[in-house]
Amino acid sequence: MTAVHAPGTPVIEDGRLVSTSPATGAEAGRLPLATPTDVARAVDRARGAGQWWAGLGFAGRRERLLRWRSLLARRIEELAALVHTEGGKPVADAVVEILTAIEHVDWAARNARRVLGPRRVRSRLILAEFSAHLEYQPYGVVGVIGPWNYPVFTPLGSAAYALAAGNAVVFKPSEYTPAVGQWLVDTFAEVVPEHPVFTAVHGLGDVGAALCRSGVDKLAFTGSTATAKKVMAACAESLTPVLVEAGGKDAMIVDSDADLDAAAEACVWGALTNAGQTCIGIERVYAAEPVFDAFVGKVVERAGRLTVGAEGADIGPITMPGQLDVIRRHIDDALARGGRAVLGGADAVRPPYVHPTVLVDVPEDSDAVREETFGPTLTVNRVRDADEAVARANALPYGLGGSVFGRRRAMAIARRLRSGMAAVNSTLAFAGMSTLPFGGVGDSGFGRIHGEDGLREFGRAKAVTRRRARSLLPAMTFERTPADVARLVKATKLMYGRRR
Ligand code: NDP
Repeated sequence: MTAVHAPGTPVIEDGRLVSTSPATGAEAGRLPLATPTDVARAVDRARGAGQWWAGLGFAGRRERLLRWRSLLARRIEELAALVHTEGGKPVADAVVEILTAIEHVDWAARNARRVLGPRRVRSRLILAEFSAHLEYQPYGVVGVIGPWNYPVFTPLGSAAYALAAGNAVVFKPSEYTPAVGQWLVDTFAEVVPEHPVFTAVHGLGDVGAALCRSGVDKLAFTGSTATAKKVMAACAESLTPVLVEAGGKDAMIVDSDADLDAAAEACVWGALTNAGQTCIGIERVYAAEPVFDAFVGKVVERAGRLTVGAEGADIGPITMPGQLDVIRRHIDDALARGGRAVLGGADAVRPPYVHPTVLVDVPEDSDAVREETFGPTLTVNRVRDADEAVARANALPYGLGGSVFGRRRAMAIARRLRSGMAAVNSTLAFAGMSTLPFGGVGDSGFGRIHGEDGLREFGRAKAVTRRRARSLLPAMTFERTPADVARLVKATKLMYGRRR
């Protein structure tokens, strides 16, 4: 290696992708770089493996997925250590991430048959002579492209559900976290050694692009909105369906009747966990005028206590060195335009770390309020009341999650947020609720992972009708007589012609 790279920057050496710790620069992983031919080959092999996997049925897949879940749980410390080394995430945050992912593997395995399996659905009077049957059949091979910020939870949100639905998965991990991705597929292969049902291909963005064009039957993408557009364009060439989990700029609303201590505690965690590198992280707060000052004081007091550093600290390094410039630009812009730093500020960016920063009275059209910052920073702006808070929260093209603290109006406010998810009197809780769907609106994407919707996302609805009796009112045949048609007209008026 001749060039000098910032710690954490992935490099390519002798056909291998080398990932390093953003804190120390120590090597974390060294994985073979895939060519477009390798990607095509991986998808071909996955196609055969997928047929075998689908043939196991729900019971066979459930048994294997639950064994993998047990393996993940037993080796949680080992995986957390790797997540920590490769991405810089504090071990405690890594444990929480992995635990949440394990819960999703468990739920997907246990519920796939109930949600996707063959079942009878009700017939209607108009076609009472037919029975109706529904099932969700696997697509075949699902391509999963993942980001680095939650290298276990995020790809498994797609992969575990796709696998439970009977698909094979070819996974392209982020170039920043390939070793974690490889660990996941290697441990799956320990439990399912027979065929390459879940495999990884490594490399930079071009490998992701090759996966989009490889003939996969569906592509599940998690990453930035800008890359999502490229992925959709590539998938459009072959009409490959896509699921898009993109960025966010989630808001928290603090209503005048909120428990301010609970709100401050949740806000600090929701904004600063994983050094703020969280798609559903709280990046903006709108606090009602009567409670604004007290709330800000409590946030600053709590955020000011957090430690920053490589080992044992609350806040680790920024994983992607290039993101430091974005964070610095957002802080500088907010301050230059009249915002005030009540914690941290202009000197908070000290590579590879960013110290907690709380900005108040930041103009709504500044970058710090409108763009994804992805750092341990937060804007807190005052609003007259909850209505103004909702209007401001909903003013951005993003719409991923959100949070509301309050008593009387909190649930109603949560429903009015233009987002796919919301947490009332907590932050981020919906991500771990495996019974609930996860996904966004607008620039945050479409489609859903997790929950029943997340399982259905990875199955094609297959509808079958079966004749069970002769038709009393023959409609779909050339054998029908004018008298039959007259009876159809009469029946239509009887069944649907009522005013109410
Ligand atoms: P990117 O969009 O930069 O990358 C995401 C993945 O896409 C990476 O594996 C990347 O590979 C790959 N990729 C890059 N270019 C292409 C291409 N042309 N075709 C196909 N794949 C490509 O996002 P980040 O990795 O920086 O992740 C952070 C983003 O992810 C944030 O916006 C965050 O909000 C969002 N996110 C959304 C979540 C959600 O559930 N909605 C959850 C977590 C994060 P490589 O890394 O090699 O460039």
